[in-house]
Amino acid sequence: MENDKDEHIKRFGIIGYPLKHTLSPLIHNFSFQHYGLPYHYDTLETDPAYFEEKIQTYVKHGYIGFNVTIPFKETIVNNINHLSAEAKAIGAVNTVHIHNNDWYGYNTDAIGTLRTLEPYRNDINQSNVLILGAGGAARAVVYVLATYFHPRNITISARNVQRALSLSSLIPKDSDITFHHIFDSASDLEFTILTSKLIINTTPIGMYPNTNTSPLPETAPLSSNHIVFDVVYRPLKTALLKKAEEAGATILGGLPMLVHQGAEAFRIWTGKEMPITQVMQILQKKLAEEL
Ligand code: NAP
Repeated sequence: MENDKDEHIKRFGIIGYPLKHTLSPLIHNFSFQHYGLPYHYDTLETDPAYFEEKIQTYVKHGYIGFNVTIPFKETIVNNINHLSAEAKAIGAVNTVHIHNNDWYGYNTDAIGTLRTLEPYRNDINQSNVLILGAGGAARAVVYVLATYFHPRNITISARNVQRALSLSSLIPKDSDITFHHIFDSASDLEFTILTSKLIINTTPIGMYPNTNTSPLPETAPLSSNHIVFDVVYRPLKTALLKKAEEAGATILGGLPMLVHQGAEAFRIWTGKEMPITQVMQILQKKLAEEL
Protein backbone atom coordinates (compact mmCIF):
# COMPACT_ATOMS: atom_id res chain seq x y z
CA MET A 1 0.00 0.00 0.00
CA GLU A 2 1.20 3.54 -0.79
CA ASN A 3 1.67 5.69 2.31
CA ASP A 4 0.93 9.16 1.00
CA LYS A 5 -2.47 10.30 -0.08
CA ASP A 6 -1.86 11.82 -3.50
CA GLU A 7 -4.87 13.84 -4.70
CA HIS A 8 -3.93 13.32 -8.36
CA ILE A 9 -3.87 9.54 -8.21
CA LYS A 10 -6.97 7.42 -7.75
CA ARG A 11 -6.14 4.22 -5.91
CA PHE A 12 -7.75 0.83 -6.32
CA GLY A 13 -6.83 -2.61 -5.04
CA ILE A 14 -7.81 -6.18 -4.41
CA ILE A 15 -8.50 -7.23 -0.81
CA GLY A 16 -8.21 -10.89 0.14
CA TYR A 17 -6.21 -13.40 2.11
CA PRO A 18 -4.03 -15.01 1.02
CA LEU A 19 -3.38 -13.17 -2.27
CA LYS A 20 -0.39 -14.89 -3.78
CA HIS A 21 -1.08 -15.04 -7.51
CA THR A 22 -3.79 -12.50 -8.27
CA LEU A 23 -3.98 -11.31 -11.89
CA SER A 24 -6.19 -8.30 -11.07
CA PRO A 25 -3.33 -5.73 -10.73
CA LEU A 26 -2.09 -6.68 -14.22
CA ILE A 27 -5.61 -6.42 -15.69
CA HIS A 28 -6.43 -3.02 -14.18
CA ASN A 29 -3.03 -1.30 -14.36
CA PHE A 30 -2.79 -2.22 -18.06
CA SER A 31 -6.30 -0.83 -18.63
CA PHE A 32 -5.57 2.42 -16.71
CA GLN A 33 -2.41 2.91 -18.78
CA HIS A 34 -4.35 2.15 -21.98
CA TYR A 35 -6.44 5.28 -21.29
CA GLY A 36 -3.53 7.30 -19.82
CA LEU A 37 -5.34 7.48 -16.48
CA PRO A 38 -3.17 8.41 -13.46
CA TYR A 39 -4.67 5.58 -11.42
CA HIS A 40 -3.02 2.67 -9.67
CA TYR A 41 -4.19 -0.78 -8.57
CA ASP A 42 -2.47 -2.67 -5.75
CA THR A 43 -2.52 -6.07 -4.09
CA LEU A 44 -3.86 -5.49 -0.57
CA GLU A 45 -3.34 -8.77 1.26
CA THR A 46 -5.32 -8.29 4.47
CA ASP A 47 -5.16 -10.39 7.61
CA PRO A 48 -8.78 -11.36 8.44
CA ALA A 49 -8.15 -10.55 12.14
CA TYR A 50 -7.65 -6.84 11.20
CA PHE A 51 -10.10 -6.60 8.28
CA GLU A 52 -12.15 -3.61 9.51
CA GLU A 53 -9.27 -1.40 10.64
CA LYS A 54 -7.22 -2.23 7.55
CA ILE A 55 -9.99 -1.35 5.13
CA GLN A 56 -10.58 1.98 6.91
CA THR A 57 -6.82 2.66 6.68
CA TYR A 58 -6.87 1.97 2.92
CA VAL A 59 -9.69 4.48 2.51
CA LYS A 60 -7.78 7.09 4.59
CA HIS A 61 -4.85 6.58 2.24
CA GLY A 62 -7.03 7.44 -0.76
CA TYR A 63 -8.30 4.09 -2.04
CA ILE A 64 -11.70 4.54 -3.69
CA GLY A 65 -12.29 1.15 -5.28
CA PHE A 66 -11.74 -2.44 -4.27
CA ASN A 67 -12.12 -5.88 -5.67
CA VAL A 68 -12.88 -8.30 -2.88
CA THR A 69 -12.05 -11.97 -2.83
CA ILE A 70 -11.87 -14.95 -0.46
CA PRO A 71 -12.58 -14.70 2.50
CA PHE A 72 -14.17 -11.21 2.55
CA LYS A 73 -16.91 -11.26 -0.12
CA GLU A 74 -19.65 -11.70 2.47
CA THR A 75 -18.04 -9.77 5.36
CA ILE A 76 -17.76 -6.58 3.30
CA VAL A 77 -21.51 -6.42 2.74
CA ASN A 78 -21.69 -4.80 6.23
CA ASN A 79 -19.63 -1.83 4.99
CA ILE A 80 -21.88 -1.11 2.02
CA ASN A 81 -24.64 1.58 1.99
CA HIS A 82 -25.79 0.87 -1.57
CA LEU A 83 -25.98 -2.76 -2.60
CA SER A 84 -26.71 -3.67 -6.24
CA ALA A 85 -29.64 -6.02 -6.92
CA GLU A 86 -27.24 -8.81 -7.91
CA ALA A 87 -25.04 -8.42 -4.84
CA LYS A 88 -28.12 -8.40 -2.61
CA ALA A 89 -29.55 -11.57 -4.17
CA ILE A 90 -26.20 -13.39 -4.21
CA GLY A 91 -25.29 -12.19 -0.70
CA ALA A 92 -21.73 -11.32 -1.69
CA VAL A 93 -19.81 -8.29 -3.00
CA ASN A 94 -16.70 -8.50 -5.18
CA THR A 95 -16.49 -4.86 -6.29
CA VAL A 96 -16.69 -1.71 -4.14
CA HIS A 97 -16.76 1.91 -5.28
CA ILE A 98 -16.55 4.70 -2.70
CA HIS A 99 -18.04 7.97 -3.91
CA ASN A 100 -18.83 11.01 -1.73
CA ASN A 101 -18.29 8.82 1.35
CA ASP A 102 -20.96 6.38 0.20
CA TRP A 103 -19.95 2.76 -0.33
CA TYR A 104 -21.46 1.05 -3.39
CA GLY A 105 -21.24 -2.76 -3.59
CA TYR A 106 -21.59 -4.95 -6.67
CA ASN A 107 -21.19 -8.58 -7.64
CA THR A 108 -19.52 -8.56 -11.05
CA ASP A 109 -18.93 -12.36 -10.98
CA ALA A 110 -22.56 -12.46 -12.15
CA ILE A 111 -21.88 -10.47 -15.31
CA GLY A 112 -18.65 -12.47 -15.85
CA THR A 113 -20.75 -15.65 -15.80
CA LEU A 114 -23.45 -14.14 -18.02
CA ARG A 115 -20.95 -13.02 -20.69
CA THR A 116 -19.27 -16.47 -20.65
CA LEU A 117 -22.52 -18.44 -21.02
CA GLU A 118 -24.41 -16.04 -23.33
CA PRO A 119 -23.18 -17.70 -26.58
CA TYR A 120 -24.66 -21.02 -25.33
CA ARG A 121 -28.13 -19.68 -24.48
CA ASN A 122 -29.95 -22.00 -26.90
CA ASP A 123 -28.09 -25.06 -25.57
CA ILE A 124 -28.88 -24.16 -21.96
CA ASN A 125 -32.56 -23.32 -22.33
CA GLN A 126 -34.76 -26.28 -21.32
CA SER A 127 -31.65 -28.35 -20.52
CA ASN A 128 -30.28 -29.77 -17.28
CA VAL A 129 -27.32 -28.13 -15.57
CA LEU A 130 -24.96 -29.75 -13.06
CA ILE A 131 -22.98 -27.45 -10.76
CA LEU A 132 -20.06 -28.78 -8.72
CA GLY A 133 -19.55 -26.86 -5.45
CA ALA A 134 -21.75 -24.53 -3.43
CA GLY A 135 -19.56 -21.54 -2.47
CA GLY A 136 -19.45 -17.92 -3.62
CA ALA A 137 -18.83 -18.63 -7.31
CA ALA A 138 -21.68 -21.20 -7.30
CA ARG A 139 -24.03 -18.55 -5.88
CA ALA A 140 -23.23 -16.17 -8.75
CA VAL A 141 -23.59 -18.99 -11.30
CA VAL A 142 -26.97 -20.19 -9.96
CA TYR A 143 -28.24 -16.59 -9.78
CA VAL A 144 -27.31 -15.98 -13.42
CA LEU A 145 -28.73 -19.28 -14.69
CA ALA A 146 -32.01 -18.76 -12.81
CA THR A 147 -32.33 -15.06 -13.71
CA TYR A 148 -31.12 -14.84 -17.31
CA PHE A 149 -31.53 -18.39 -18.70
CA HIS A 150 -34.25 -21.03 -18.65
CA PRO A 151 -32.70 -24.39 -17.75
CA ARG A 152 -35.10 -27.18 -16.83
CA ASN A 153 -33.12 -28.45 -13.82
CA ILE A 154 -30.23 -27.19 -11.75
CA THR A 155 -28.47 -29.90 -9.73
CA ILE A 156 -25.82 -29.05 -7.15
CA SER A 157 -23.20 -31.65 -6.27
CA ALA A 158 -21.53 -30.46 -3.06
CA ARG A 159 -20.22 -31.96 0.14
CA ASN A 160 -21.81 -29.30 2.38
CA VAL A 161 -25.55 -29.99 2.34
CA GLN A 162 -26.48 -26.73 4.08
CA ARG A 163 -24.58 -24.57 1.59
CA ALA A 164 -25.97 -26.57 -1.32
CA LEU A 165 -29.57 -26.23 -0.15
CA SER A 166 -29.15 -22.49 0.46
CA LEU A 167 -28.57 -22.06 -3.28
CA SER A 168 -32.23 -22.93 -3.94
CA SER A 169 -33.22 -19.49 -2.60
CA LEU A 170 -31.54 -17.94 -5.66
CA ILE A 171 -34.21 -19.47 -7.90
CA PRO A 172 -37.21 -17.10 -8.18
CA LYS A 173 -40.39 -18.43 -6.55
CA ASP A 174 -42.39 -18.19 -9.78
CA SER A 175 -39.73 -20.00 -11.84
CA ASP A 176 -40.38 -23.49 -13.21
CA ILE A 177 -36.71 -24.50 -12.78
CA THR A 178 -36.38 -27.60 -10.60
CA PHE A 179 -33.63 -27.63 -7.99
CA HIS A 180 -31.81 -30.80 -6.88
CA HIS A 181 -28.88 -31.59 -4.66
CA ILE A 182 -26.76 -34.74 -4.83
CA PHE A 183 -24.42 -35.73 -2.08
CA ASP A 184 -21.70 -38.35 -2.09
CA SER A 185 -23.40 -40.85 -4.42
CA ALA A 186 -21.41 -42.07 -7.42
CA SER A 187 -24.50 -43.41 -9.18
CA ASP A 188 -26.47 -40.16 -8.69
CA LEU A 189 -23.50 -38.21 -10.04
CA GLU A 190 -23.14 -40.49 -13.06
CA PHE A 191 -26.87 -40.27 -13.84
CA THR A 192 -26.83 -36.47 -13.50
CA ILE A 193 -23.81 -36.15 -15.80
CA LEU A 194 -25.53 -38.34 -18.41
CA THR A 195 -28.70 -36.24 -18.30
CA SER A 196 -27.03 -32.79 -18.15
CA LYS A 197 -26.09 -30.54 -21.04
CA LEU A 198 -23.98 -28.07 -19.07
CA ILE A 199 -21.54 -28.99 -16.28
CA ILE A 200 -19.94 -26.16 -14.28
CA ASN A 201 -17.11 -26.61 -11.82
CA THR A 202 -17.17 -23.89 -9.14
CA THR A 203 -14.81 -25.66 -6.70
CA PRO A 204 -11.09 -24.79 -6.61
CA ILE A 205 -10.23 -28.44 -7.40
CA GLY A 206 -7.70 -28.49 -10.25
CA MET A 207 -6.38 -25.02 -9.47
CA TYR A 208 -2.63 -24.37 -9.54
CA PRO A 209 -0.55 -25.94 -8.00
CA ASN A 210 -2.86 -29.02 -7.72
CA THR A 211 -3.26 -29.20 -11.47
CA ASN A 212 -3.61 -32.99 -11.69
CA THR A 213 -6.78 -33.07 -9.61
CA SER A 214 -10.32 -33.04 -11.03
CA PRO A 215 -13.71 -32.49 -9.37
CA LEU A 216 -15.12 -35.42 -11.42
CA PRO A 217 -14.03 -39.06 -11.19
CA GLU A 218 -11.86 -40.55 -13.94
CA THR A 219 -14.86 -42.64 -15.07
CA ALA A 220 -17.25 -39.66 -15.49
CA PRO A 221 -19.30 -40.28 -18.65
CA LEU A 222 -18.43 -37.04 -20.46
CA SER A 223 -19.25 -36.86 -24.16
CA SER A 224 -19.55 -34.58 -27.17
CA ASN A 225 -23.07 -33.67 -25.95
CA HIS A 226 -21.64 -31.72 -23.02
CA ILE A 227 -20.58 -28.15 -22.47
CA VAL A 228 -18.09 -28.10 -19.57
CA PHE A 229 -17.30 -24.75 -17.92
CA ASP A 230 -14.56 -24.60 -15.28
CA VAL A 231 -14.43 -21.30 -13.36
CA VAL A 232 -10.82 -22.08 -12.42
CA TYR A 233 -8.51 -20.06 -14.72
CA ARG A 234 -5.11 -21.18 -13.44
CA PRO A 235 -4.17 -23.32 -15.38
CA LEU A 236 -5.92 -22.15 -18.55
CA LYS A 237 -6.93 -25.77 -19.28
CA THR A 238 -7.61 -27.72 -16.09
CA ALA A 239 -7.49 -31.52 -15.79
CA LEU A 240 -11.32 -31.48 -15.97
CA LEU A 241 -11.27 -29.50 -19.22
CA LYS A 242 -8.58 -31.73 -20.73
CA LYS A 243 -10.71 -34.81 -19.98
CA ALA A 244 -13.83 -33.14 -21.34
CA GLU A 245 -12.01 -32.09 -24.49
CA GLU A 246 -10.77 -35.67 -25.05
CA ALA A 247 -14.39 -36.80 -24.81
CA GLY A 248 -15.37 -34.27 -27.51
CA ALA A 249 -17.18 -31.83 -25.20
CA THR A 250 -17.25 -28.06 -25.72
CA ILE A 251 -14.97 -26.57 -23.08
CA LEU A 252 -14.98 -23.13 -21.44
CA GLY A 253 -12.19 -21.99 -19.13
CA GLY A 254 -12.47 -19.45 -16.31
CA LEU A 255 -10.37 -16.71 -17.93
CA PRO A 256 -13.18 -14.97 -19.86
CA MET A 257 -15.26 -14.88 -16.65
CA LEU A 258 -12.32 -13.30 -14.81
CA VAL A 259 -11.78 -10.69 -17.51
CA HIS A 260 -15.48 -9.85 -17.86
CA GLN A 261 -15.95 -9.46 -14.08
CA GLY A 262 -12.89 -7.18 -14.10
CA ALA A 263 -14.21 -5.23 -17.10
CA GLU A 264 -17.46 -4.54 -15.26
CA ALA A 265 -15.53 -3.30 -12.19
CA PHE A 266 -13.42 -1.09 -14.50
CA ARG A 267 -16.59 0.35 -16.07
CA ILE A 268 -18.05 1.07 -12.60
CA TRP A 269 -14.86 2.89 -11.49
CA THR A 270 -13.95 4.74 -14.69
CA GLY A 271 -17.05 4.81 -16.91
CA LYS A 272 -14.84 3.32 -19.65
CA GLU A 273 -14.73 -0.01 -21.48
CA MET A 274 -11.79 -2.24 -20.63
CA PRO A 275 -9.66 -3.14 -23.69
CA ILE A 276 -10.81 -6.76 -23.33
CA THR A 277 -9.08 -8.26 -26.37
CA GLN A 278 -5.66 -6.93 -25.33
CA VAL A 279 -6.18 -7.88 -21.67
CA MET A 280 -7.18 -11.41 -22.68
CA GLN A 281 -4.06 -11.75 -24.87
CA ILE A 282 -1.75 -10.56 -22.06
CA LEU A 283 -3.28 -12.99 -19.55
CA GLN A 284 -3.26 -15.92 -21.97
CA LYS A 285 0.44 -15.29 -22.64
CA LYS A 286 1.23 -15.03 -18.93
CA LEU A 287 -0.72 -18.17 -18.00
CA ALA A 288 0.65 -20.14 -20.98
CA GLU A 289 4.16 -19.46 -19.63
CA GLU A 290 3.18 -21.32 -16.44
CA LEU A 291 2.20 -24.54 -18.24
P1 NAP B 1 -15.63 -20.79 -1.89
O1 NAP B 1 -16.69 -19.81 -1.56
O2 NAP B 1 -14.62 -21.16 -0.88
O3 NAP B 1 -16.38 -22.13 -2.42
C1 NAP B 1 -15.66 -23.27 -2.84
C2 NAP B 1 -16.61 -24.44 -3.00
O4 NAP B 1 -15.83 -25.57 -3.40
C3 NAP B 1 -17.32 -24.86 -1.70
O5 NAP B 1 -18.55 -25.44 -2.02
C4 NAP B 1 -16.36 -25.91 -1.14
O6 NAP B 1 -16.97 -26.83 -0.27
C5 NAP B 1 -15.97 -26.63 -2.42
N1 NAP B 1 -14.71 -27.34 -2.28
C6 NAP B 1 -13.50 -26.81 -2.01
N2 NAP B 1 -12.58 -27.77 -1.97
C7 NAP B 1 -13.24 -28.95 -2.18
C8 NAP B 1 -12.84 -30.32 -2.25
N3 NAP B 1 -11.56 -30.67 -2.09
N4 NAP B 1 -13.79 -31.25 -2.49
C9 NAP B 1 -15.08 -30.89 -2.66
N5 NAP B 1 -15.52 -29.62 -2.61
C10 NAP B 1 -14.61 -28.66 -2.39
O7 NAP B 1 -14.78 -20.29 -3.15
P2 NAP B 1 -15.32 -19.46 -4.43
O8 NAP B 1 -15.20 -18.02 -4.18
O9 NAP B 1 -16.64 -20.00 -4.83
O10 NAP B 1 -14.18 -19.83 -5.50
C11 NAP B 1 -14.08 -21.13 -6.01
C12 NAP B 1 -13.14 -21.17 -7.20
O11 NAP B 1 -13.66 -20.35 -8.23
C13 NAP B 1 -11.73 -20.64 -6.90
O12 NAP B 1 -10.81 -21.43 -7.57
C14 NAP B 1 -11.76 -19.24 -7.49
O13 NAP B 1 -10.47 -18.81 -7.91
C15 NAP B 1 -12.66 -19.47 -8.69
N6 NAP B 1 -13.33 -18.23 -9.14
C16 NAP B 1 -13.11 -17.86 -10.42
C17 NAP B 1 -13.71 -16.71 -10.89
C18 NAP B 1 -13.46 -16.27 -12.30
O14 NAP B 1 -13.69 -15.08 -12.59
N7 NAP B 1 -13.05 -17.14 -13.19
C19 NAP B 1 -14.57 -15.95 -10.06
C20 NAP B 1 -14.79 -16.40 -8.75
C21 NAP B 1 -14.16 -17.56 -8.30
P3 NAP B 1 -17.10 -26.52 1.31
O15 NAP B 1 -18.09 -25.40 1.43
O16 NAP B 1 -17.57 -27.80 1.87
O17 NAP B 1 -15.70 -26.12 1.75
